[in-house]
Amino acid sequence: PTSTRDGLDEAKAEWTELAERIQSYQAAYYERDESLVSDAEYDGLMQRLEEIERRFPELAGQDSPTRRVGGGVSELFAPVVHAQRMYSLDNVFSIDEFRGWAEKVARDLGGAPAFLCELKIDGLALNLRYENGKLVTAATRGDGVTGEDVTANIAYIPGIPQRLSGTGHPPLVEVRGEVYFPVAAFAELNAHREALGEKVFANPRNAASGSLRQKSEGKSPERLALMHEGFERLRLTVHGIGAWEHPPVHSQSEMYELLASWGLPVSKYAKVVMGTEAVAEFIEHFGAERHSVEHEIDGIVIKVDNFAQQGSLGSTSRAPRWAIAYKYPPEQVNTKLLDIRVGV
Ligand code: NAD
Repeated sequence: PTSTRDGLDEAKAEWTELAERIQSYQAAYYERDESLVSDAEYDGLMQRLEEIERRFPELAGQDSPTRRVGGGVSELFAPVVHAQRMYSLDNVFSIDEFRGWAEKVARDLGGAPAFLCELKIDGLALNLRYENGKLVTAATRGDGVTGEDVTANIAYIPGIPQRLSGTGHPPLVEVRGEVYFPVAAFAELNAHREALGEKVFANPRNAASGSLRQKSEGKSPERLALMHEGFERLRLTVHGIGAWEHPPVHSQSEMYELLASWGLPVSKYAKVVMGTEAVAEFIEHFGAERHSVEHEIDGIVIKVDNFAQQGSLGSTSRAPRWAIAYKYPPEQVNTKLLDIRVGV
């Protein structure tokens, strides 16, 4: 028998078990709109997997969950190949970890860049393909290369233009954004679903995914009405672009201004700042204010604003190197509710 490095066999066994668990949670989350564990627990498993792979790099194959975009393509929908692939985001879980990331970026760029701070909306990513200003396809992220065709449903979502307004539309532009289910409408949707014997959603993110990814075939009139209630409650916020040859702007923040002038819904919360202290302030501010926002947020996304700098940093197989997601610590909502009830 070949001799193995200390602990490799144990690490391999743990890696395999973790990867299988993560894959089963991903299938439930991305395909069936169900969360079998909390997001914090899921993130903890991914962090453990990364830790094992740092110690035993030979375990980190191309099919590792740490190297792939998590989603899939359900057979219910036709596949759509994105003109440019879609990515996930790498995470940090503390301001210190963020500073470490920012230092590395500054080293690679030869100077500190301007950062664009945005809310991390807890929904699902959508890719809108516009040709000469006309919406041609809308697709979910899927595995990053191929997504699910949801074009037919998009027509019912308020605020997503079928035709761009303004002028100067390129032959092809892919606009990416987050589809979310507003918190205010979530309880009501679940009440209506329960009344019709449909499964209720555990959170607004699952409600967004479950509402967007629906088919009308075989639905009774009551269920069709429920499907449309879902569509009409959904909203989109634009947070990126894919394929676009020679955009006439030089930064992500200018790009949002241009997309807004074409009638696309951009966030009113995004802010360009210099320095990690200003980023930390943004993170702290929205940590305290997260419930005053109309959608759920699970963190803050910090992006290098300048396109040329984004290009020089590039991407890994899973995520851009020019952006990072700071994740807020989990909220103990259920425990608090329980405490209140116990206290009464
Ligand atoms: P992610 O959600 O952590 O980050 C990437 C995504 O963030 C992007 O694809 C985009 O859709 C979204 N996003 C929101 N606001 C954005 C903004 N302003 N700019 C850019 N992107 C923005 O990564 P992921 O790969 O989509 O999913 C992993 C996460 O999903 C986990 O960390 C966990 O929270 C959750 N998850 C949970 C379970 C579970 O069982 N509970 C299972 C799978 C995934």
